Amino acid sequence: MTSSAENNLNADEHPEPQIARRGLLYIVSSPSGAGKTTLARRVLAADANIEMSVSVTTRAARPGERDGVDYHFADRTKFEAMKDQGDLLEWARVFDNYYGTPREPVEAAIRDGKDVLFDIDWQGAQQLSEKMPGDVVRVFVLPPSGHVLEDRLKSRAQDPPDVVAKRMAAASSEISHWPEYDYVIVNTSLEQSVASALAILTAERLKRARLLGLSDFVRTLQTAL
Ligand code: 5GP
Repeated sequence: MTSSAENNLNADEHPEPQIARRGLLYIVSSPSGAGKTTLARRVLAADANIEMSVSVTTRAARPGERDGVDYHFADRTKFEAMKDQGDLLEWARVFDNYYGTPREPVEAAIRDGKDVLFDIDWQGAQQLSEKMPGDVVRVFVLPPSGHVLEDRLKSRAQDPPDVVAKRMAAASSEISHWPEYDYVIVNTSLEQSVASALAILTAERLKRARLLGLSDFVRTLQTAL
């Protein structure tokens, strides 16, 4: 075993090589109330190299939601214009409202080797998978039980009862899309789920196909042997 002082010394002498890589699209979907938004926030807070994709939506802002941070709030005319101009990478109608992903920030981020986190539904996940199959990492979050899902939806207290009822009714059909995802996290303990989500991110970043600078690095390495 080496002491941490020795480790630091070695790190100074041998700085980690910077190998260029393409960013990935980290998609998190779940039925409403499974805890995906909290999970996404924790992943963003824990890792500086992943940023949130801020969607455009026609739904009204909930109390506490900020325009440009949680969503870009837009009316139907503006949304349609963005869609028609090809400014949306994907879009879907969810619970009587329209949601879409602005294209430009996502393309810029992955070009720069930054990862992008998406809180989008299965329709969006399907569209991104078709458009950028090599770039997506899809994670589906399940609640540990139906009771937990209902409790979470009610305790959120942001939506009126009829909206909560609608979301409960939609949960079963949303959940039916779980086989379309690469990973499934059952969100019993938030801490465990955050650890799992970060472990997936770490492993996916190490995939050879994403490490665009690997050939150059290995070539340099071999010339030194
Ligand atoms: P909420 O209204 O609760 O914020 O979101 C409702 C649903 O819409 C959630 O399942 C959320 O993941 C999804 N959603 C949010 N933004 C987008 C988006 O840009 N595209 C798609 N396809 N779904 C989205």
